[in-house]
Amino acid sequence: MTTCDVVVLGLGPGGEAVATKLAGAGLDVVAVDQRLVGGECPYYGCVPSKMMIHAALHVAEARRVPGSVEVRPDWGPVARRIREEATDDWDDAVAVKRLEDAGVRFVRGHGRLTGVGRVEVDGSTYDASRGVVLNTGTEPAVPPVEGLADTPYWTNRDAVAVTDLPASLVVVGGGAIGCELAQAFARFGVGVTVVEMADRLLAAEEPEASRLVADAFGAEGIQVRTGVQVRSVAHADGTFTVDLGDQRNGADLLRTDKLLVATGRRPNLADIGLESVGLDPSARALETDERMSVGEKLWAIGDITGKGAFTHMSMHEADVAVRAILDRDGPWADYRAVPRVTFTDPEVGAVGMTQRQADEAGVAVRTASGDLGTRGWIAEREGLVKLVADTDRGVLVGGTVAGPAGGEVLGLLSLAVHAQVPIDTLASMVYAYPTYHRAILPVVEELAG
Ligand SMILES: Cc1cc2nc3c(=O)[nH]c(=O)nc-3n(C[C@H](O)[C@H](O)[C@H](O)COP(=O)(O)OP(=O)(O)OC[C@H]3O[C@@H](n4cnc5c(N)ncnc54)[C@H](O)[C@@H]3O)c2cc1C
Repeated sequence: MTTCDVVVLGLGPGGEAVATKLAGAGLDVVAVDQRLVGGECPYYGCVPSKMMIHAALHVAEARRVPGSVEVRPDWGPVARRIREEATDDWDDAVAVKRLEDAGVRFVRGHGRLTGVGRVEVDGSTYDASRGVVLNTGTEPAVPPVEGLADTPYWTNRDAVAVTDLPASLVVVGGGAIGCELAQAFARFGVGVTVVEMADRLLAAEEPEASRLVADAFGAEGIQVRTGVQVRSVAHADGTFTVDLGDQRNGADLLRTDKLLVATGRRPNLADIGLESVGLDPSARALETDERMSVGEKLWAIGDITGKGAFTHMSMHEADVAVRAILDRDGPWADYRAVPRVTFTDPEVGAVGMTQRQADEAGVAVRTASGDLGTRGWIAEREGLVKLVADTDRGVLVGGTVAGPAGGEVLGLLSLAVHAQVPIDTLASMVYAYPTYHRAILPVVEELAG
């Protein structure tokens, strides 16, 4: 039995931050991970995918140059940059050293709770006097489609490590991850088809944003099939066959070199000993209070709290948990103004509630929309702003910006929703010209009027 103050189980971005900050505050911290310190984001998620997207954006910008410009995209430098600069060839030695230099004791292995304040890792038990922080994150969720499990399909973890591009790719799942990777590969010359069960891409976002992205995909030659479900998948002689048929229409077959499954995430909760502390291992998420507590001497942060599978949520919740463990004052967790960005082109930034979410929550809202478009006459690009205002309180409860730099323009709306800035104030401030964020002015003027 090894004693310590705190065990951090799972080292995604939030877990790493909690361990480092608590050690910095003088606590004796044991941090456990079975894979790579830093979790999904630096090795398989945000960082490598954004490197791909960034490179693809440059390719697309070059193609927008009028006249006889020849663009020959080369995947080699992108793959090299991901391997050498982002992931150290999927080696976390630098991250482990950073953790240990901060005074944390790192243990590699699969950890499980065995009781209150107690974690077992490969036969060794760690007894944490202050408690345990869970940050076990998610795995790619793979749907139970007939034949799929027997094929060499990709998840995001394979897709970001690709060195040689296929000629064709079917992406199953038109959410943020599927759309981002689909467009990045397509811009490097891969023939991409996106298959989505919902009736539109990015189904969690405003329908206007989905339309904009679908139009952009169409213009770039990406095939989009919405409202269809994959019935079965087979693989033979290096080719996947994906059957989208239904009972009425019979077979509807796609043939493709590679298949990427991007159908959401599965929380790592089933095998971490939750039953030993009276929690349900089959839960979709852990129900936390405002201090991230989920039980006696137990906190949870990151994707497993179900409040938004984003690195910034993991980090926000990490800070809250650190304050709670150190008996400091808040601020505590606040989910009113959670921002999210889908890094497609057009980029979709959104914060707070969509119109539908506000309706479902029973908030009396008014919406207004405008064109993000042209940035004066300088850059002719499609885009939109849509704002959701709480009519009783005269403040924004949600907003979406889709277009170039949508995720950056979003900052202004995030502040407005978070700080509950009166719409009259937003309508009376000065917006620089010619910028994309100036497109917010006529929309707030309409809401204020
Ligand atoms: C392709 C892709 C792109 C993304 N892009 C973005 C983006 O642009 N912006 C953004 O904000 N978010 C993005 N995300 C989401 C982001 O990666 C996650 O929200 C983020 O990693 C936070 O996750 P987490 O802290 O919950 O833990 P994770 O990062 O999932 O890490 C959990 C860790 O726990 C470990 N673990 C699990 N169980 C055990 C156990 N029993 N014992 C020991 N260790 C265990 C795992 O090995 C892992 O290292 C993306 C995700 C993907 C897949």
